[in-house]
Amino acid sequence: MLIDGKQISKNIMEELSSEIKTITSKLGRAPYLSIILIGNNPASEVYVREKLKACKYVGIFGNLTRFDSSASEEEIESDIKKKNDNKDVDGILLQLPLPDHLDSEKLIEFIDPNKDVDGLTTENIGLLVSGNPRFVPATPLGIIELINRMGVELKGRNVVIVGRSKIVGRPLSIIMSGKGANSNATVTLCHSWTSNLIDFTSQADVLIVSTGSANTINGSMIKKGAIVIDVGINKIEDQTKKSGYRLVGDVDFDSAKTKASMITPVPGGVGPMTIAMLMKNVSLSTQL
Ligand code: NDP
Repeated sequence: MLIDGKQISKNIMEELSSEIKTITSKLGRAPYLSIILIGNNPASEVYVREKLKACKYVGIFGNLTRFDSSASEEEIESDIKKKNDNKDVDGILLQLPLPDHLDSEKLIEFIDPNKDVDGLTTENIGLLVSGNPRFVPATPLGIIELINRMGVELKGRNVVIVGRSKIVGRPLSIIMSGKGANSNATVTLCHSWTSNLIDFTSQADVLIVSTGSANTINGSMIKKGAIVIDVGINKIEDQTKKSGYRLVGDVDFDSAKTKASMITPVPGGVGPMTIAMLMKNVSLSTQL
């Protein structure tokens, strides 16, 4: 069965639209998300455009601050601090990756943790680890929401996550192995140093893949009946397409779908959920 992230995210966006109407009338203004974009990374341009479009759809005021790729750390720091002090700004998002000369870890820490809708400050990561999350990064949050809405129970099941990034695999492993609602799974977190990856993936009831390379996983590595969540977004050459490329995930979809009981497509799986859950985090930021 296909996990239709596009449709599920649409439902969430509808729910959020009405939630945000209520918030707007209570606050006397729309929730405010400030996005900071430095440089002109083409993928970031696309992501930012999608985020702003989603803001408009649900009734959030999305504001973009652009900096030249040569911007200094001091300039960004001062802009973030101004936004921290502005009571009308609810959420602040620093679009990653940053140009090489900027230290993203350092700059993220300047964001007021109560406005850190990406959930990347040390304070918010700490809260997540301690089992008392405030902002959960949008992609893990979206994956959990997909799993919940598909009626999948995680308690006691083997979850294998391939990829330990700070924005996907690691937070997800903490949540799913925790004691919160729909968690209590036995989680294995794999990475590029994992020996014999197949030994782990073939034991997974739920397999989540976020490696950033196409075909990391194929059908032969998946247990029959497993639930497969593919986070990856990779451009591969395809001369049959007008653009000359198509998007694929980190999982070889055709072979995986013959083994999986449920699987997310790429595109149309985790991607739209990430955007919807960012909107949910902005909504939450108005309540802090
Ligand atoms: P990173 O690129 O930051 O890290 C990749 C992780 O995968 C690392 O932990 C790496 O191991 C591990 N890895 C890489 N190759 C292998 C392999 N062959 N076997 C086992 N582990 C491997 O990951 P992200 O999570 O940021 O991004 C991954 C993908 O997901 C990208 O394609 C990105 O575009 C996409 N993405 C999609 C989102 C969405 O909304 N759909 C949101 C975020 C990301 P090590 O740590 O040892 O280097």
